[in-house]
Amino acid sequence: MRTKSAPLLVKTIHIPARTIPVAHEADLVVVGGGPSGIATAVSAARHGAKVVLLERWPSVGGAATNALVNIWHTSDREKIVILGIVQELIERLQRRSGAIHRLHKYPSKPETYEFAPHEMRVAMHELLDDVGVTTICHLAAIEPLVEGNRITGVLADTKTGRKAFLGRFVVDGTGDGDVAAAAGLPYEFGRKSDGRVQGMTMMYNVSGVDAHEVSRNEAEAERVVQLMKDLRDRGEFPQFFEFAAKSYLTFGRDPGVSYNMCPVAGNPLDELELTRCSVQARKQVLQYVDLWRREMPGFQNAKVTQMGFWLGIREGRRVKGRETLTAEDVVKARKRPDAVGHGFFAVDIHDPKGGGHSTWVEYDRTPPVGQSYHIPLGMCLNDQIPNLAVAGRCASSTHEGHGSVRVQTHCITMGQGLGTAIALALKAGTAIAKVNLTKLQTTLRNDGAYLKDVPA
Ligand SMILES: Cc1cc2nc3c(=O)[nH]c(=O)nc-3n(C[C@H](O)[C@H](O)[C@H](O)COP(=O)(O)OP(=O)(O)OC[C@H]3O[C@@H](n4cnc5c(N)ncnc54)[C@H](O)[C@@H]3O)c2cc1C
Repeated sequence: MRTKSAPLLVKTIHIPARTIPVAHEADLVVVGGGPSGIATAVSAARHGAKVVLLERWPSVGGAATNALVNIWHTSDREKIVILGIVQELIERLQRRSGAIHRLHKYPSKPETYEFAPHEMRVAMHELLDDVGVTTICHLAAIEPLVEGNRITGVLADTKTGRKAFLGRFVVDGTGDGDVAAAAGLPYEFGRKSDGRVQGMTMMYNVSGVDAHEVSRNEAEAERVVQLMKDLRDRGEFPQFFEFAAKSYLTFGRDPGVSYNMCPVAGNPLDELELTRCSVQARKQVLQYVDLWRREMPGFQNAKVTQMGFWLGIREGRRVKGRETLTAEDVVKARKRPDAVGHGFFAVDIHDPKGGGHSTWVEYDRTPPVGQSYHIPLGMCLNDQIPNLAVAGRCASSTHEGHGSVRVQTHCITMGQGLGTAIALALKAGTAIAKVNLTKLQTTLRNDGAYLKDVPA
């Protein structure tokens, strides 16, 4: 299940042993400040752990901020089933005018929020500061420090050289499972048939659209999408996500909306390929908007105001855990004794070959209306290095199960469960897998998380 990537480098160099300064010693080192890493760090700190969070970009938020993925879903189409840290962040943003708005309200549609990524960035940093997490951006964790079956920390590259960050527990929230893989934990990559991971997408914002004009021209929107398809089929226009393109052209959007319709395919673990994909995607965005300016009434003055600083990556390594979440768990709304929260999102797989479609629209890939599955703690844990856990999109799932649990509200729920479990493990002096589940689940509920129907 591995994709073909750049040839392995056969030439090597030898680096003599060096003395590395220890920059921080903490109870928990979280690598990666995406939605899952933030939630893990916040919940562990809230329960008394000394936490350091390491993030390679200038701000936390992961795809939510740096790739402009600004949509959150919280209901099972009948009731809200995601609360906890997700709800706290929603409320923080609601206190600021224009920072977040409800796009769809349950029960008629899934409860959906759209937020301003730069405001979310600030809210996430404030939340981390408020609970006492030491957040350090602008450094990349490059190497786990493993002794036998324990991890003692990570090495990170900084502007002033390589430094060590030591911790009693380490969580890999890198999205791609970089730390776990380097520590030797087994992982899967891509779908079974050809080893390809989900397609990537460059998100972008457009200003200058005359929404009134657009809303009067549905037939024109259909004509423009058909033109895009014809040109694409003749090889004269790039791929695009047809379903989404029609929606953006039909309804017209305000400048805060991130357009999610620019697909590219490649291996996100190969930096050369990823660079090419990012450049290709940025060119595609300009091609779409150039054509719309010429062809679509209301788009004459449209301008691209922003593209993701980071190409949106949906899937990388999936680190094998004590439990693995499958598509069947999702669609059958399976419940688990070690539940830390609920998930309900469809098995949503964007074409791994970069074509413009996704399985999101297939309703048989969604739990039944009013039902949800449990996110198990075991998908974050492993038996080889018990004090190293993973959170978020690199947690243990099949390619199909990942299609659901990868969304941000689910990753935050998972992170909140894992961080709380680590704090309890620290207090009890035990392994994460050995924490008292009743105590964990009660603590999560007391902290505002939604957690129901846990089997005995
Ligand atoms: C185009 C697109 C559209 C999507 N649509 C939706 C949607 O509508 N709703 C939704 O909820 N979700 C959506 N998702 C999914 C969701 O955004 C991601 O799956 C989610 O952000 C995963 O969270 P994470 O914390 O696991 O990883 P990420 O968000 O990927 O964050 C990982 C973080 O780790 C950091 N990092 C990586 N390596 C290192 C290192 N070595 N050292 C330090 N830091 C490191 C990264 O910089 C990043 O900040 C979408 C994703 C994409 C790409």
